[in-house]
Amino acid sequence: MTAGTELIPLYSSSQGNSTLIKINGVNLLIDCGKSCKMIGEALIKCGVYPDDISAVFLTHGHSDHIQGITVFTKKYHTPVYATKGTMRKITDIYSEVTYIAENDIISFKEHGFEVWALPTPHDIEGSVVYKIRNLKTKKDVCVMTDLGQFTPAMQGFARGSAAILLESNYDRQMLKDGPYPYPLKMRIASGHGHISNDICHEAAEFLIREGTTKIMLGHLSPTNNTEEIALDSFIRYMKGRDLTEGRDYIVKVASKTGPTEGFSV
Ligand SMILES: [Zn+2]
Ligand SMILES: [Zn+2]
Repeated sequence: MTAGTELIPLYSSSQGNSTLIKINGVNLLIDCGKSCKMIGEALIKCGVYPDDISAVFLTHGHSDHIQGITVFTKKYHTPVYATKGTMRKITDIYSEVTYIAENDIISFKEHGFEVWALPTPHDIEGSVVYKIRNLKTKKDVCVMTDLGQFTPAMQGFARGSAAILLESNYDRQMLKDGPYPYPLKMRIASGHGHISNDICHEAAEFLIREGTTKIMLGHLSPTNNTEEIALDSFIRYMKGRDLTEGRDYIVKVASKTGPTEGFSV
């Protein structure tokens, strides 16, 4: 098996999230936020059988990240890694659970990789994001959504990653003009909810200047964003800072309805 990492979003939006990581011949899932059936279908499309998933890492206990986990573990008994805060939101689980700390490094030395966790200010206890470090290729990939803010700690965590799935949740104007009730609008924009396209641009500019070349925009709000707005505004912002798509970086949007052709690093 050749060494390498692939980052493949299976579903990504406020309606459900799951990401497949293929690393040195091992398959991991980050989040299980669609039905077990839908996740199984997406995996098969990517050429992976659900029982070939070696571990599921959960980011936090909101339903768009955990709604399939009970049935998935009942069917496949896949080991689960999550914080205690996240596990408190899950009533039934049918496989071995390894509790992780919010600033943890879980080593899979025999397979040549590590999974790093970092806490986020998202509005639920025990919320983390992950970095997967390939010890064979020396390349990192990050899955960072449900951020609330892009903090200096997150900058340090993601800095130097080869590829990232980065939240680009909402367009400020669409959120402002949109149908959500005022308290929900406030929650999303509060610094403990989600990050806007604008904040995503600033975060990505930092990462591109530090050497990241592959950016997957994810966790778009179906109500307050569109794929076109997220992508166009990203490319326009970077162009204004003399960063050109195809020359300095590649950007894609992760689909909310099924697998997106991923990044290999
Ligand atoms: Zn979410
Ligand atoms: Zn969330």
